[in-house]
Amino acid sequence: MPLIPAPIQNLVSALERLPGIGPKTASRLAFFLLKAPDDLLEQLSTSLADLKAGTGVCKICYNITLAGQDLCDVCADPKRADGTICVVEDAMDVLAMERTGGFTGRYHVLQGVLSPIEGIGPDDLRIRPLIERVKSGEAKEIILATNPSMEGDATALYLRQQLLPLGVRVTRLARGLPMGGDLEYADPNTLLRALSGRQDMS
Ligand SMILES: [Zn+2]
Repeated sequence: MPLIPAPIQNLVSALERLPGIGPKTASRLAFFLLKAPDDLLEQLSTSLADLKAGTGVCKICYNITLAGQDLCDVCADPKRADGTICVVEDAMDVLAMERTGGFTGRYHVLQGVLSPIEGIGPDDLRIRPLIERVKSGEAKEIILATNPSMEGDATALYLRQQLLPLGVRVTRLARGLPMGGDLEYADPNTLLRALSGRQDMS
């Protein structure tokens, strides 16, 4: 007989696949849930089941939306300034930028970064629709707000190459965010400083 019954082991194996969760934490969480009140388990299982079914992707910027909505809150908001598009890696970075309160333009979510090691090339990201948006004349400035990491920098350089010939201003968030760090974990003030200190890439 296995040491840990299969229902627990299955949960441990699933939890171990989450980012930042090692085998020890996975076991601790599984045994915690075994003793947790029923309403917590109920809430967890219904929200997990609804997670994908209840959400969608914005048709303009690829941010997350509620299922059935074509546009995200930012794209649907007529008060947001057209003319500036902030390009980020994923939807969590939109939240990080929104928390600064210092950006009133539009977004474009790449849904990843270029990574030759992981075999992720330009066609795997939402780069083509970004270029179409720029070609349509929607924006005067593109702020490249990919993470300050090797992949984030490489992606910004690639986008600069693609966007500058289209006659737009291309800027990059200022240094000051910790290298290798993630936008989504940066504190709002640091991120706001990086935004207002952004530099031209031309
Ligand atoms: Zn949108």
